[in-house]
Amino acid sequence: MRTQVGIIGAGPAGLLLSHLLHLRGIDSVVLESRSRDQIESTIRAGVLEQGTMDLLTEAGVGARMKAEGALHHGFELAFEGKRHRIDLTGLTGHSITVYAQHEVIKDLVAARVADDGKLRFGVSETSIHGIDTDTPSIRYRHEGEAYELQCDFVIGCDGSQGVSRASIPQALRKDFERVYPFGWFGILCEGPPSSDELIYARHERGFALISTRSPNVQRMYFQCDPKDSVENWSDDRIWAELHARVDSHDGQTIVDGKIFQKNIVGMRSFVSNTMQHGRLFLAGDAAHIVPPTGAKGMNLAVADVRVLTEALNAFYVENRTDLLDSYSTTALKRIWRAEHFSYWMTSMMHRIEGASPFEQQLQVAELEYVTTSRAAATVMAENYVGIAGAHA
Ligand SMILES: Cc1cc2nc3c(=O)[nH]c(=O)nc-3n(C[C@H](O)[C@H](O)[C@H](O)COP(=O)(O)OP(=O)(O)OC[C@H]3O[C@@H](n4cnc5c(N)ncnc54)[C@H](O)[C@@H]3O)c2cc1C
Repeated sequence: MRTQVGIIGAGPAGLLLSHLLHLRGIDSVVLESRSRDQIESTIRAGVLEQGTMDLLTEAGVGARMKAEGALHHGFELAFEGKRHRIDLTGLTGHSITVYAQHEVIKDLVAARVADDGKLRFGVSETSIHGIDTDTPSIRYRHEGEAYELQCDFVIGCDGSQGVSRASIPQALRKDFERVYPFGWFGILCEGPPSSDELIYARHERGFALISTRSPNVQRMYFQCDPKDSVENWSDDRIWAELHARVDSHDGQTIVDGKIFQKNIVGMRSFVSNTMQHGRLFLAGDAAHIVPPTGAKGMNLAVADVRVLTEALNAFYVENRTDLLDSYSTTALKRIWRAEHFSYWMTSMMHRIEGASPFEQQLQVAELEYVTTSRAAATVMAENYVGIAGAHA
């Protein structure tokens, strides 16, 4: 089989890239190791920056997001017993939408299927060949048969555990990494929202985030030991922990509900520099990871794809390679801004084991500053809505 662009991974990066290329008349094939059902039901991100919302809308896949997503104009920071609002729209003129990542995935898969897009689910043994030549290929197995997909370009959108990044020789790549000594315990529960806007809470017992998914489904997280197990946490214990961390602020009370999903995620910052080699380009989590505190992961994947689409379009329409050559440099500017923001939010909001009383007071001083200085609040708001570093 032959195509112009071979894409590994049907996450937000791979599916959106395939759809945007289709809109420019460029052919692609997406190879995904999991089933359609699995990718459409995996619970992950939920905060979409304005730029992500705009791109999905322009690309004709934003109708359900607009109808079912919730537009948020601010969020709250809770610490030292008080809640403080960051007025995103008042400070930046922009907002965010809360719409679950797996719903974005469903919209993108539906669009690719409606356009007769080539999606192969359940592939295995994916490997990349010939990226130093003009005729690279991807070998894989599907339903017991071995295949080779020949293409002009291979795009690695296969997330943090995929095969693509390792196809760039380590000698040409510098990896930057920070592993945090804590994780997030996440739940999904039935019930009404506890608050109109997201609440990020810093408490001496640890961080908590009160988020939402829909009027009837709520998403909540609390800081935990990344090696802990969900089996150690009964529903009662989870609610006791969330109440202890969040209810103490200005009389806020979170609403309990029936918990129907529990998971623990580790927290890591990672950047691969470079994101390209020969005819192979990386996009999304395949090239970089952020801790979820800044809500940037999916948005960065979308931002990479926007840059890559323009670069591939310039190649096919104008026979230009300059945008492809500068892809990594261009994308990394926004990525490092988001890396810093995610690290900053994470470091300011979490309980750091072994932190001295002096260091704990510094966290509070920083939170006091961003909630009392318009200039500091604007820095936070610009980063949160994604217009800081938006030149990329
Ligand atoms: C708990 C949690 C909360 C988060 N919250 C937010 C948030 O609020 N906002 C935000 O913006 N981001 C958030 N993120 C991050 C966000 O989910 C990721 O950044 C996003 O999924 C990246 O998209 P991607 O397409 O690059 O990679 P992925 O979504 O990881 O997709 C990669 C795909 O490639 C497939 N694959 C892997 N290896 C192969 C192979 N060898 N062959 C074929 N296919 C392969 C995988 O099965 C997968 O479907 C969160 C993440 C987690 C875990």
